[in-house]
Amino acid sequence: MATVGIIPGDGIGPEITEATVRVLSAAAPYLSYEYIPVGHLIPGGEHDPLPDAAVAGIRRLGAALKAPLEAPRRTGRIVKVRPDGDRVYPSINNAVRRELDLFANVRPIHSVPGISSGPDLDFLIVREVSEGTYSGIEYRIGDDVAQAVKVVTRAAWERIAHFSFRLAVEQGYGRVILGHKANVLNLTDGLELEVVQDVARQYPEVELKDMMVDALGQAIVRGAVPRAVVLLDNQYGDILSDVAAGVTGSIGLGPGANFGESVAVFEACHGAAPDIAGTGRANPVGLILSGAMMLCHLGDAAAADAVEAAVETALRSVRTPDLGGTATTSDVADAVVEAVRAAAPSPARA
Ligand code: ATP
Repeated sequence: MATVGIIPGDGIGPEITEATVRVLSAAAPYLSYEYIPVGHLIPGGEHDPLPDAAVAGIRRLGAALKAPLEAPRRTGRIVKVRPDGDRVYPSINNAVRRELDLFANVRPIHSVPGISSGPDLDFLIVREVSEGTYSGIEYRIGDDVAQAVKVVTRAAWERIAHFSFRLAVEQGYGRVILGHKANVLNLTDGLELEVVQDVARQYPEVELKDMMVDALGQAIVRGAVPRAVVLLDNQYGDILSDVAAGVTGSIGLGPGANFGESVAVFEACHGAAPDIAGTGRANPVGLILSGAMMLCHLGDAAAADAVEAAVETALRSVRTPDLGGTATTSDVADAVVEAVRAAAPSPARA
């Protein structure tokens, strides 16, 4: 019996979490859940939205499913007071990743048959999430000037490059594409490129290609990216994974996972969508597929495959408004649960 953490999140978070837990319970009945309040849902109102106890809880469990969190009201930022100096994070999602030393955000980009009229996409985005322009170092100099610092270190890029090449080998991608802008950001993106090229020499079976990130964006929209691990820094990865999710049909479809050395947090690639919270219009598929990634990480590839197949089956007839349908969040959960049960190979999942 494995126990995983559940962070219900803000906005549409609780609705899509409920839908996802129903699907996981059908596909992997042996799982149990420990709910970890983070963000605005913590009882008591204004407070630290990321208590140290929550971070410790996720670390202890080793794996958690996390719905999206909204930026803290008023400040937008998170400040963790520490004896060795305060840590300032530009958003709560960023704070969760960095407090847990999660450095790799993995976002599979796969077109679901029949959903999008756009090109078929099939690649895996690996986004470096420990530094870059989202390091939280921003200054306002008087009324009229503001600066943000882009941090790039050899250590972080060696770590993310090894992670990406290993993934390319393990999952049979055979190719890593680095998106960068080293022709303009010579020193920062230039260091990323230099480190990735160095690490690539240790993986002769994997081809390394590098592309200007703007050209890569255009290639994604035109369906011209070959099957590959696409490695991006924090900001480019944030932007291009939403673009790619949009090309596959809806931002509500994209799953994701954040990996550290010993902790993994699984989350959809969309935000808390406060504009549709409580309306039943939220598409739960991104979080459900993130749950499938978690099952795979826990070693149950069969249950993960069952959930993915059930989502494909359900989407043939049941779609939320972002996909042009009229189904509610819980209609989608019902259909996916039914498809999981219908395909159950053993009495354990019946
Ligand atoms: P963040 O900065 O946290 O990514 P955001 O406000 O930029 O947040 P989202 O919260 O992802 O972006 O919302 C962008 C748009 O996509 C909104 O109109 C929202 O309603 C829609 N959207 C996001 N997620 C879903 C979903 N799961 N189902 C349907 N629509 C969604």
